[in-house]
Amino acid sequence: MKADEPTKVIQVLDDRAAQVWTKGSGEAFVCDRKSTAGSVTQRACAFCGSRVVLYPIADALHIVHGPIGCAVYNWDIRGSLSSGSQLHRNSFSTDLAEKEVIFGGEKKLEASLLELIEYYKPKAAFVYSTCIVGLIGDDVQAICRKVSKKTNIDCIPVDSPGFKGTKKTGYQAACEAAYKLVGTGDTSGISKYSINLMGEFNIGGEAWMIREYYERIGIEVVATITGDGRVDDLRRCHGAALNLVQCSGSMTHLAQLLEEEHGIPLKRVSFFGFEDTAQALYTAAEHFGDPELMCKAEELVRDEIAKYTPKIKAYRKELKGKKAALYVGGAFKAFSLVLALRALGMKTVLAGTQTGNAEDYKQLQDICDPGTVIVDDSNPLELAKFVLEKEVDLFIGGVKERPIAFKLGVAFCDHNHERKIPLAGFEGMLHFADEVAKSVLSPIWKFAPRHELRALKINTQIADTESP
Ligand code: SF4
Repeated sequence: MKADEPTKVIQVLDDRAAQVWTKGSGEAFVCDRKSTAGSVTQRACAFCGSRVVLYPIADALHIVHGPIGCAVYNWDIRGSLSSGSQLHRNSFSTDLAEKEVIFGGEKKLEASLLELIEYYKPKAAFVYSTCIVGLIGDDVQAICRKVSKKTNIDCIPVDSPGFKGTKKTGYQAACEAAYKLVGTGDTSGISKYSINLMGEFNIGGEAWMIREYYERIGIEVVATITGDGRVDDLRRCHGAALNLVQCSGSMTHLAQLLEEEHGIPLKRVSFFGFEDTAQALYTAAEHFGDPELMCKAEELVRDEIAKYTPKIKAYRKELKGKKAALYVGGAFKAFSLVLALRALGMKTVLAGTQTGNAEDYKQLQDICDPGTVIVDDSNPLELAKFVLEKEVDLFIGGVKERPIAFKLGVAFCDHNHERKIPLAGFEGMLHFADEVAKSVLSPIWKFAPRHELRALKINTQIADTESP
């Protein structure tokens, strides 16, 4: 930008205008569509979507059939903990190169699978297809069938070439793959009060905390899918009486398959914040209709809230009036975050998701305050624009949003799968409040350039979307 050039504000691309909405504007809102050309979407590829969903199945072998870059791109990116096997934390790849692109990668895949199964003795193997495999047309299914027969280990193809769609398409491919194991295990001895926790990935040990809540009130958790996941749990999860789906984007398809083919009802829940965690416990107790379960749930909620409320109140005092922006993968997390921030006295001024659908956004619009900007499938420029315009004090997102916040001199809180701290459940709310307070109230922001940036509006060099 030349010194005398006037500063311009970032514009939203015309083709994206309907995916950006302000509460109270009365305008129509559009979502759930392909990313606009020219907009650098925050969405990941289909392969990444499938990998992050299945990755926490700890005693399975996960092999990425493709160039090494695909495997590195999402190696060990979830903070999912395992109470046993750590096999999932390895990143195996067939490392396809020029030779296989020309002559095919089937032989390499077969040899890799045989060697890895012999060495690691996994309970099952997931084979992820990447873009290049979709292009050269390797028959991954046939190789999986052949190796399964030779080794007696289920080798399951995951149909996830990156170009197949968005991260959401990958979620679907992961659900289809996981479903191949369902129904193959013994369900005897499962309690009539039993659940599967679906879309719970045991980040920082969250699944263990939630499992303990349910066990305290007398409900058996048959499988957490996929946090601290085990192949044998998946095989018998069709024996549970109820599916509780937390991350709706990633797991609704699997829950629907279980409902259609095994008659297991599904309910959407969330474990972020006091309100939602309590409601998730009541939802299960109410479903089973046993007054004793409900009594125990109420007692647990009372005890847990009493334990953490004084500390939360102290944080609330310090955080009151601060403004937050959030951009997350799924919509359910966004609802919970708006409520959790409100409980801390903070206001959400920008909320968005990568994969929300119309129903999700309707709910998000309802719970947000007037004036809140809601964005679907956003990009770094738009997010930067609203973070500055709305004078945000805290940005909540994942690894791709972190640099946006830090470059603008805004506090950041990781609420995605890369984090190591448990933020779910009652105790998690305290960790969340602590994280938020430490980030927002840090003295470092006094030295950040965001105030100057606000004064200058935004550098035309990165901002001038009107330029050809
Ligand atoms: S887009 Fe294709 S090449 Fe890129 S990481 Fe995804 S699967 Fe690999």
